[in-house]
Amino acid sequence: MEKDQYLNISRPGKACLLCGKSLVEIKKHPSILSNEDASRKDFCKDCWERYKDKSYFSYWITKRLAPDPRQPLSRKERNDLLLRMFESLYRVADETNTYMLFYLAHLLMRYKVFNWKGSEVESEGGENGTIEKSFLVFENKNTGEEVRILDQTLDGEKVSSSQKQIEEYLNQNLPEEKPEEESRQQ
Ligand SMILES: [Zn+2]
Repeated sequence: MEKDQYLNISRPGKACLLCGKSLVEIKKHPSILSNEDASRKDFCKDCWERYKDKSYFSYWITKRLAPDPRQPLSRKERNDLLLRMFESLYRVADETNTYMLFYLAHLLMRYKVFNWKGSEVESEGGENGTIEKSFLVFENKNTGEEVRILDQTLDGEKVSSSQKQIEEYLNQNLPEEKPEEESRQQ
């Protein structure tokens, strides 16, 4: 698989692919990564039950966040936050955030915060023979620091939950509403 093909799992669609009903207000709905062109398709529950062409690479339930009316982040604010999120998880590096780190690293590469450096294979001798582990290497463009991420395979469910976690993290850090006018001293 191409190293960032799973990034083709774009953000959830605004409407059901078949009936056009808005999915923004629905808390949960089915999503697939189509076998045909590896694109993401979102459905409302009713249409999914009627949908005939159920050939997919990956199926999952998308959980939506309510839209946030506050000020959107600038590109730089977003990149800084994503990097901060990445770095705090990278320092902990426990098994539960492996996929998240993998996803964030690719996202940061897409946003040109990281450069792609290549992959490395490490062999580990164990009781049942040698195990090979693949790592992906990225470089922070600003600091030149390298990070190594354990390679993962495509998993729609995990991508979707990573996206949701990132969205929540960014929402928690949205700028508060700007005051309309500075209050004046009398
Ligand atoms: Zn529908």
